[in-house]
Amino acid sequence: MTKSPAFPTGTILGYPRIGRRRELKKAVESFWAGTTSAAELEATAADLRRVTRERLLALGLGRTDSSIPEAFSFYDQVLDAAVTVGAIPTRFQRLVADDGSIDLAGYFTIARGEGGDTPAEMTKWFDTNYHYLVPEIGPETTLHLASDRLLREVAEATASGFRTRPVIVGPVTLLLLSKASEEAPEGYQPLDRLDDLIPVYAELLAALTAVGAEWVQLDEPALVSESIEVDRAVVLAATQRAYDLLGNAAVRPSIFVSAPYGSLDDALPVLIGTPVEAIGIDLVKGDLPSGVTTDKVLVGGVVDGHNIWRGNLEAGLASLEALRALSPNVAVSSSTSLFHTPHDVTDEPLLSDQLKSWLAFADQKVAQVATLAKGLVDGKGAIQAELDAASTALIDRQHAEGVRDAAVRTRVAGLTAADFSRGDYDQRLAAQDAALDLPFLPTTTIGSFPQTGDIRRQRAALVAGRLSEDGYKQAMRDEIKRVVDLQEEIGLDVLVHGEPERNDMVQYFAENLDGFAVTQNGWVQSYGSRCTRPSILWGDVSRPAPITVEWSAYTQSLTQKPVKGMLTGPVTILAWSFVRDDQPLRDTANQVALALRDEIDDLENAGIGIIQVDEPALRELLPLKKKDHEDYLDWSVGSFRLATAGVADRTQIHTHLCYSEFGVVIDAINRLDADVTSIEAARSRMEVVPDIESSGFGRGIGPGVYDIHSPRIPSVSEVSELIDIALGSIPERQVWVNPDCGLKTRGYDETVESLKNIIEATRAARAKAGV
Ligand code: GLN
Ligand code: ZN
Repeated sequence: MTKSPAFPTGTILGYPRIGRRRELKKAVESFWAGTTSAAELEATAADLRRVTRERLLALGLGRTDSSIPEAFSFYDQVLDAAVTVGAIPTRFQRLVADDGSIDLAGYFTIARGEGGDTPAEMTKWFDTNYHYLVPEIGPETTLHLASDRLLREVAEATASGFRTRPVIVGPVTLLLLSKASEEAPEGYQPLDRLDDLIPVYAELLAALTAVGAEWVQLDEPALVSESIEVDRAVVLAATQRAYDLLGNAAVRPSIFVSAPYGSLDDALPVLIGTPVEAIGIDLVKGDLPSGVTTDKVLVGGVVDGHNIWRGNLEAGLASLEALRALSPNVAVSSSTSLFHTPHDVTDEPLLSDQLKSWLAFADQKVAQVATLAKGLVDGKGAIQAELDAASTALIDRQHAEGVRDAAVRTRVAGLTAADFSRGDYDQRLAAQDAALDLPFLPTTTIGSFPQTGDIRRQRAALVAGRLSEDGYKQAMRDEIKRVVDLQEEIGLDVLVHGEPERNDMVQYFAENLDGFAVTQNGWVQSYGSRCTRPSILWGDVSRPAPITVEWSAYTQSLTQKPVKGMLTGPVTILAWSFVRDDQPLRDTANQVALALRDEIDDLENAGIGIIQVDEPALRELLPLKKKDHEDYLDWSVGSFRLATAGVADRTQIHTHLCYSEFGVVIDAINRLDADVTSIEAARSRMEVVPDIESSGFGRGIGPGVYDIHSPRIPSVSEVSELIDIALGSIPERQVWVNPDCGLKTRGYDETVESLKNIIEATRAARAKAGV
């Protein structure tokens, strides 16, 4: 290839694709519902891309300098890459046209499944709350350039006078995130197909050149992760091979390899040794590299793409200056794609002006990138006013009321080891056995019952002012009564109230704690068309008044059976919110924990003998680097223990985690010291049981027997089999019987039938055991 065109001095790795008013969500869902055609959906998407280009231009990126990323997706960027290279699972081959391509409807079918064909598996994208679809690759996968979608998008931009920079998941990350297909033999690794995949990428790059792309961005976040199951030396060798081959391709755009979410570490010298022209370095999550120099473009990701704080612009500029010691060619970018942040902070009528002045959503971050780019070119003096404004906001934030609450701080500072410890388990067990009088194989659910349209309508009416506070409360009480009666009728042992009053398991607590703010339009894509609206944890956290006590006490008044109080744990509250970045997560987690500890204390005093503290995000926040694991486990487990350690021996603490990778975090689960832990297991047919057995886990454990992610009703014999597997390996007095997770997304009919089957299977197991 000829001399590389200049890399833009300022860029972003990606931008929200869902639209300011979730236009894409609505368009995609109406296509699924059959109300609109593929052509109409394509038109909406093209319009969103046009609006995005214009917006990014107005915010300071360039029209033709390749600074605007071409990073749209209808559903998921990993699925896009898989579809582009023809990695379609065998069960979906029928969707593939003669020319090897797949249409929009087929694309969504892979994501969502159809009939008996299960969708591609979904899993969390690095240490974020975004979920991608896991590609399946085996010896039977015919890798070939199967989609011209990215080419068409670049051409569309060109036609409107832009030169954008196409973005695609890089070949090494694509293979490392893939799993072996069903057809693949034991021990098969998708990475073995690297040599078949590289020519496909080379063909794509050549075609991108033909439609006018001067730069291409290949996202390789897998290179920063130590949670990849392939040996590091193998990963590095693959990286070297992939980029040597692609770099030496005859016709291609200049290559920008980006590596968000952490330090590249030993992968950086490897990339520097290949012919790629630019390398993206995450300087927010990762450290400034040392001991390497290069004349390649180093793109410093100093504007945090993963959080919503305005941040310290001056420090960002200083990091970029430091990067100049490594390379004469330095550019600035967001640390990650901006799709983890909402669109625009000026679009938030509910937030105070003061809070808004501390924040930067995607649009504000683009402007920050443009400012820093100007600083890189024209010197610090040229952007002094912007640097000063950012510093002023930071100082204001440090001193603003509520950011530091003396009472909260004194309490945290006074904590001692005893506050984190409950004492001897055997003693607790004896007290709980006496207090609760539960049968062998106790049955329970994870907390929520179906969130019916009626419940959601009541809440909408309350928000809109059409229903009074009292009217709403009464409606929720009626719902709780129905749920309690139903559980009694079905014969469950430990009852729940069903969580009808909660819009979301984190937002509900955020709305009831000081130190949080909630947004109106701050939607962030979680997966596909699903978005969440994370709360903003901006100040010291405290609990102005009890939150759940009235609901739980009312529920307990309806039944002789024990009712389980239901709270969201500190780690999950942090993981699913935008969290202040001005103090260690440990300190913030302990503040949240103390608020929950008071809530638990009040629940106990109100006669609630079992309290569940959900921590489904414990695994998600696990750092990508092993060196950070111990510190993470220490504070995350610590905050759970702080929340729960204030109770009497007789009070039974439950926790719930919703994933089946028990082995990865068994140590953490053990250290939580909960009396009972429920965990997802039905989907994998109790794959976790051997891990539980070999770890010698000694407390109560409820491996799920009902896969609530599927509308399928498990039969009695299926549940019996799962219970038998559990009883075969785990001491029987530890085993609980429960679904995999909450029932809020299910309908009532399937829920009732499934729970009845669970009870019947449990009774049979009790009879078999002679109790
Ligand atoms: N208690 C919550 C529920 O049942 C738990 C949800 C979760 O694990 N994500 O809905
Ligand atoms: Zn769950």
